[in-house]
Amino acid sequence: MTGASRGIGAAIARGLAEDGWPVGVNYRSDRDGAEAVVASITEAGGQAVALAADVADPAAADELFGALEAEFDCPVLVLVNNAGISRDDLTPSLGDEEWSAVIETDLTGAFRMTRRALKPMLRARRGRIVNVSSVVGLRANPGQANYAAAKAGLIALSRTAAVEVARRGITVNAVAPGWIDTDMTASVSRDLLDAVPARRAGTPEEVAACVRFLASDAASYVTGAVLSVDGGLAA
Ligand code: NAP
Repeated sequence: MTGASRGIGAAIARGLAEDGWPVGVNYRSDRDGAEAVVASITEAGGQAVALAADVADPAAADELFGALEAEFDCPVLVLVNNAGISRDDLTPSLGDEEWSAVIETDLTGAFRMTRRALKPMLRARRGRIVNVSSVVGLRANPGQANYAAAKAGLIALSRTAAVEVARRGITVNAVAPGWIDTDMTASVSRDLLDAVPARRAGTPEEVAACVRFLASDAASYVTGAVLSVDGGLAA
């Protein structure tokens, strides 16, 4: 799974390991964070390996899948695209670099990972892909045109891939978290929580619970769906 060194990704990695999956803990720069996630999984009796790669690098998907197939000696049958960044600014002043960095990381990276994942899944005639989108892909949030475009694109990618591969036993779904307490939201004014019907932020574990369900056998007939986990923000 991508972007698993902290925050939501770390919670998903721990949760999937608890469910019995060997987990590839991808990170871009936070090696200590990724190693700590791996250590907590192995201490709990699970299997995990830390893998450095920038998902915005066109070579990352082949590198990551090759490393995982060698490490665990089996095809990768669950992919969680969680790696994401934001670079906020209002549209009139949003720079090309901020636009491209977010699209390349949050959308194009997930597309390349999905394309690479589907090859062994199609051969195995089973697989699960879960894309971590955002409530911002469903409703407007000023200052996030790049992030919103990437996250809405991720939903469209999920739905399209879902119908392409549904008859091969592969599901592709998205989760759309609202405000979750992580490094990404640490500097955002908590006054904004007044707009959340639940009147609180969510936890990474609450997002992980949704991803674990979508990755499980119990979700075998759920595909092309977007599961909001946002305390009612998109309702
Ligand atoms: P976070 O705490 O900032 O963690 C982001 C993770 O993604 C880190 O593990 C980071 O690794 C990794 N990452 C970033 N860029 C990467 C790249 N180019 N290649 C590989 N890994 C990369 O963020 P978070 O809040 O947990 O968010 C996780 C996902 O949920 C993101 O897709 C985000 O858009 C989405 N989301 C978050 C919220 C929220 O309220 N927090 C709401 C909706 C959606 P390094 O530490 O090594 O850079």
